[in-house]
Amino acid sequence: SSKFVLPVIVLLATACGAPAAGQQGKPLESALVGVTMPTTKSQRWTSDGENIKRDLESRGHRVDLRYAENDVPNQVKQVLAQIAAGAKLLIIASVDGSALTQPLAMAAEAGIPVIAYDRLLRGSPNVDYYATFENFRVGVYQAESLLTGLELRNADGGPGPAPGPFNVELFAGSADDNNSVFFFNGAMSVLKPYIEQKKLVVRSGQTEFQAVTTLRWDGETARKRMEEILTTAYRRNKVNGVLSPYDGISLGILTALKNNGYGPAFPIVTGQDAELDSVRSIIAGEQYSTIYKDTRELARATASMAEAVLKGRTPPQLNNLNDYENGVKIVPAFLLNPVGVDKSNYHKVLVESGYYTDDQLR
Ligand code: BGC
Repeated sequence: SSKFVLPVIVLLATACGAPAAGQQGKPLESALVGVTMPTTKSQRWTSDGENIKRDLESRGHRVDLRYAENDVPNQVKQVLAQIAAGAKLLIIASVDGSALTQPLAMAAEAGIPVIAYDRLLRGSPNVDYYATFENFRVGVYQAESLLTGLELRNADGGPGPAPGPFNVELFAGSADDNNSVFFFNGAMSVLKPYIEQKKLVVRSGQTEFQAVTTLRWDGETARKRMEEILTTAYRRNKVNGVLSPYDGISLGILTALKNNGYGPAFPIVTGQDAELDSVRSIIAGEQYSTIYKDTRELARATASMAEAVLKGRTPPQLNNLNDYENGVKIVPAFLLNPVGVDKSNYHKVLVESGYYTDDQLR
């Protein structure tokens, strides 16, 4: 009798309207979705990739998930291969946001919609939607946490007990990632007045975005720059804080500080992504803070956007129709909220939410 079970399930599923029919009346479960992520070297992106894949597969889709290992030509090839394989939708977290215009044009020609994931795809009309976090706010939170750590600011936002001045240095992300500009501008919207009032002093003199970027968000590149700054601008002074846009960069900065005699008390170093090594570092009292972005939520939101797009509908969750201009068009976006994390709230935010277990953080 077991040979009847499968046909019955198929019949039932069809009768109930699930799986939903695609535009050509084909069941949507046959849709192949191409997902490309920047690198496996950062925990956040491996979680992103796995979460999107799991969510889409649980909706009955097939997923081709690839990592470009921060290599632009590699990512171009991967996207082209997915187009050739008959992908019905592309979800792309780019290495270089402006380097995919050609494959995107080919996707458009083949009628394949594109969702930019976390990082905006720039310089192309062929980007349909964008799913990300409130990127400007990420930078605001990073800067506020730097000020809180230095005690220039109270946790409630009022002036803190320390008068300053404090020596700080600034790091930004990769210049080819649109997010870097948002993070840096968000942070500077908070820090600028303190720099102008000389409560914060940047001894290296490097305060412009172009001077402080970190190609491909590389921790080793950040370590080298920090060491260079320490040996040139801090021969007679100590640095008190470092604005860091990403956990991998923060750990590079902390290594530079250790190599130059800092510790066990460290300058205030910020971060982003709540990666395991950095959360452990926060618990150990080295890195000061990070920004938690629940990539499970981003993946879930993107999977349901994908579902709508595959059905030829406008995704219902769009909540930002203005801010993400990519040089050619304004890309309608869905934005999630980031959360600031330091030693005082990591347990509540990261463990009680089930993002990490206590065991993982030991
Ligand atoms: C992401 C950040 C991440 C950074 C480095 C950015 O585009 O938004 O979450 O820290 O890339 O991977």
